Amino acid sequence: MSIATKTVSLNLVLLGGPGAGKGTQAKRLETDFSLTHISTGDILRSEVVRETELGLKAKKYMDEGDLVPDNLIIKMVESEIERHSQEGFLFDGFPRTVGQAEALDDIIVIDKVIYLEVGREEAVRRLSARRVCENCGENYNLLFKRSSEEGICDKCGGSLYQRKDDKPEVIKERYDTFWDKTAPLIDYYVERELLTRVDGEQGPDEVYSRIRSILDILG
Ligand code: AMP
Repeated sequence: MSIATKTVSLNLVLLGGPGAGKGTQAKRLETDFSLTHISTGDILRSEVVRETELGLKAKKYMDEGDLVPDNLIIKMVESEIERHSQEGFLFDGFPRTVGQAEALDDIIVIDKVIYLEVGREEAVRRLSARRVCENCGENYNLLFKRSSEEGICDKCGGSLYQRKDDKPEVIKERYDTFWDKTAPLIDYYVERELLTRVDGEQGPDEVYSRIRSILDILG
């Protein structure tokens, strides 16, 4: 199905545990709605690879499935927002604590929060099968999005690897971290009448049309 690009000046948050499909949905929304996609996980991974001061500080938390401290994350997101004059942000993996959500509220107005709900078993199944291109960052999945040639990125020919934090023992930590530190955001956004729940266990196309219908009503 071809979907026309639509420019909206909404600021959206994609909320969900590890393996909920935030990144997959964000890539499509970014293109179809001309939004500026801010993935704190992607930014941090790039800082780690470049061995910047932030990357060196963040690495140990990421490797253990823990959250990078709020002060570092908030500073990083503030400068990302400043860098883009265009309206319409799509936050993926941010905010992840109530402190981050409050800081974001001080910077911009959030119009909608989509909460992708996925059970633990399905999240572990998806994440264990995820592979990422070391060169361009494209995501693949051994279950439902394989590359044409095993271990090689279709887009750029780079090698595919398994993220260190997609190993079973770290997935468990990330999942617990989500329920401990991020899940309070569900109530935070319900109270502000911003949150809509979407069944993230459906296929990516079904999830996408559901999100799209929510945004069509808004926009
Ligand atoms: P993700 O790619 O969104 O799953 O993020 C990978 C890792 O980066 C997480 O497990 C955290 O260690 C770190 N991270 C990403 N976003 C945040 C955030 N908003 N707050 C704190 N840590 C984060």
